[in-house]
Amino acid sequence: MQKTPDHAVITPTEAIQAGTHGWRAKCLQRLIRLDLPVPRTVALPFTAVRAIASGQPAPAATILQAFEPGVLLSVRPSPQNTDWGGPGTLLNIGLNAESHARLAQTHGQAVADALYLRFIQSYAIHVARLDPDMFDASAATPEALRAALRAYEQETDEPFPEDAAHQLTQALRSMSRAWEGTTARLLRKAKGAPEDAGLGLVVQEMALGMGHGVSGSGVIQFVDSTTGLPQITGRYLSQSLGRDAITRAGEGTIYLQCDPRGPSLEELAPEVFADLMRYGAVCRRRLREEMQIEFTLENGQIRVLDAIPVTRSSRAKLKIAVALAEDGVIGKDDAVLRVEPRALSELLHPQVDPRGARDVFARGIAASPGAAVGRLVFSSTSAQASAARGESCILVRRETSPEDIRGMHAAQGVLTERGGMTSHAAVIARGLGLPCVVGASGLQLDARDKRLIAPGGRILHEGDLVTLDGTTGEALAGEAMMLAPALDDDFREFLSWADEFRDIGVRANADTPEDAQTALNFSAEGVGLCRTEHMFFDQDRLIAMREMIFADDPKDRASSLTRLLPMQREDFIHLFSIMEGLPVCIRLFDPPLHEFLPHSREGLRELAEALDRPLSEITRRAEALSEFNPMLGMRGVRLGVTLPEIYEMQAQAIFEATIAVGARGIQVVPEIMIPLVSAMREVELVKTRLEAVAAQVRARRGVDFAYKLGVMVETPRACLRAGDIAQHAGFLSFGTNDLTQMTYGLSRDDAGRFMSAYVNQGVFPEDPFHTLDIDGVGELLLIGAERGRATRSDLTLSICGEHGGNPESIAFARRAGFDYVSCSPYRVPLARLAAAHLAL
Ligand code: PEP
Ligand code: MG
Repeated sequence: MQKTPDHAVITPTEAIQAGTHGWRAKCLQRLIRLDLPVPRTVALPFTAVRAIASGQPAPAATILQAFEPGVLLSVRPSPQNTDWGGPGTLLNIGLNAESHARLAQTHGQAVADALYLRFIQSYAIHVARLDPDMFDASAATPEALRAALRAYEQETDEPFPEDAAHQLTQALRSMSRAWEGTTARLLRKAKGAPEDAGLGLVVQEMALGMGHGVSGSGVIQFVDSTTGLPQITGRYLSQSLGRDAITRAGEGTIYLQCDPRGPSLEELAPEVFADLMRYGAVCRRRLREEMQIEFTLENGQIRVLDAIPVTRSSRAKLKIAVALAEDGVIGKDDAVLRVEPRALSELLHPQVDPRGARDVFARGIAASPGAAVGRLVFSSTSAQASAARGESCILVRRETSPEDIRGMHAAQGVLTERGGMTSHAAVIARGLGLPCVVGASGLQLDARDKRLIAPGGRILHEGDLVTLDGTTGEALAGEAMMLAPALDDDFREFLSWADEFRDIGVRANADTPEDAQTALNFSAEGVGLCRTEHMFFDQDRLIAMREMIFADDPKDRASSLTRLLPMQREDFIHLFSIMEGLPVCIRLFDPPLHEFLPHSREGLRELAEALDRPLSEITRRAEALSEFNPMLGMRGVRLGVTLPEIYEMQAQAIFEATIAVGARGIQVVPEIMIPLVSAMREVELVKTRLEAVAAQVRARRGVDFAYKLGVMVETPRACLRAGDIAQHAGFLSFGTNDLTQMTYGLSRDDAGRFMSAYVNQGVFPEDPFHTLDIDGVGELLLIGAERGRATRSDLTLSICGEHGGNPESIAFARRAGFDYVSCSPYRVPLARLAAAHLAL
């Protein structure tokens, strides 16, 4: 039978694992091994904590035997991962009338009273769960002490517990149970914790930063949490303990390092400061991490109580990982693994452009960086409703509570009237990577009348468009001008390391020269999908496209195609030039007609003018062209088969552009992709036409060129018949948007109306248009890939639907042996990193 690990004193030798005792216990053991002055500590494993939570008695008496009689203790949470939270630390367990009297002798009456009062208050609130209002923080007078003891007795009908074992038992039980609470579960789940995540607890001898000589407590770290750059930051507060220096900021904290603005710990206790610097360096080198060290000075003697990885913004995360790798402390692979892919999108967050107008209506604390635009909502329910409608929103609350978590998930930004850097809203928003401004004083939320009264009396209503700037702490009326985030050298360097490890390609979906430039800036390995009809969305070009669509005889069509040809040729020359010889996959026209027909009378009139035709004729033609189900109508290759001259024009433009850039030294082998195929014969027909065009261009220009022909697999039938189709295709690219639409029989344009009901009721685990449905659509992908490769072993396979940038879809594509994924340009960095994580 396997022995269940029980609590034990942490020593340098007895093995402690984060997986059984939590990261804090593991970390404390490392500090002990590094000879840092850590007070005696007992660690309780997950199994013990779980047993306590389920009602078994806490082993307080045996834990106490590990310590000198009469010492005071603290209890801290130790979850497996630092990010998973846990109940708050409890200090000074063991204080009672007797130890209070003893403390008065050793540390003076004032210190003893202050500690005892604090202990009674925190025990009453956090262990006995009494109303905090009954135990208002007040000056530690003997009267206040008596009042607190009286209040405790009145509320519980029991005297305040004197027995240390009883206090410890209750503290352990309360913390064990808090871990099982719904809020705690929800919070850690949002951070990726599994359902059965365990909690360890550590019981540590208190170091009292109060009393004689240089006494106090503080925290120190050696990098800035926001930028990740080297900088000594932290706080020290005389006559304090625990994390007082942080929670009681402003009450006479002093600088750590010599500072002209005031006294510093470095001046007060230079040897202590030198020790801290040394500890920081040792931790960085040996723990291979930037740590924040929590310390206490007891009459000049330093104790290290804890060290936690420095909390950090995504930007800082990347900077720190790069610096550690560049200093040889960690390997590049480790650095790459230290930044989770989704954190990059936060790094890429837009910022408010400082050059634009700023109509500030409220100011508060900049609690979480980045900026977002959205409509004002005043409740979590409204935020969720906005998300269900696909609208961006900014959630405004007086302050947030755990009930607001779902609303915060749904919002693009969070603004609160109250709170500070460590308030609920701030902590959660930083965790979620949402821009957040808290403590916007002077702001009055009138939730009943759905309005917000800004300082100065300005009134905003629910639904008004605002911009939240979490970087500066301002809320702006309207939609501010935004700036794409700057990408510095460390960012590029870091992603180039990721590229060394990944083994699946990442291309970008790019339709315009701007998209292509962004794709190249993000080091995409080529264009995986150029939707050519999107090249005609601009107003002047839309007319040319409509003209072609409206042509009802071959002569008219030929004339509009003659106008489109030079535009397309220029487009491709531009695209090939930007991509500098990297592969470019061009999809032939796939215009669902409803996207290109004018919808209003006004639009029809404009078209009539542009085409110089009577309005009645245009209206009749539009009616004739309109389809009951355009997404399943005259789209994709169906257009190519019925009106072949359109694809011929595009092929000619592609080939002539290839020759043009070739003459300038850019050698491209364009990839031409046929959309919405469902039968092999469609491919055969288009292929024959394209070959004829290629032959004509070669003959006319006297220049040879190569190209690849492939098929976009977007219909279930194409997956099933991939074996036939691959006879005529050098590559298959799975268009998972249409494939999802057709596999489910779910309109991609209308599903939003009921998707949230479906997800809420568990019909779909997630929106299949966002997260690839591995079970259904995924199976079709596997069938298509397998049958295609059975015909042609060197067949290139890829995904180019919206799912291409999603880490789970990338994992699926990699497992299935795909060659690359293609996603929107801004998702390329995330995809590169996600792919590297998969390979490591
Ligand atoms: C697809 O269907 O997955 C695809 C990429 O094409 P579009 O979104 O243009 O239909
Ligand atoms: Mg499609």
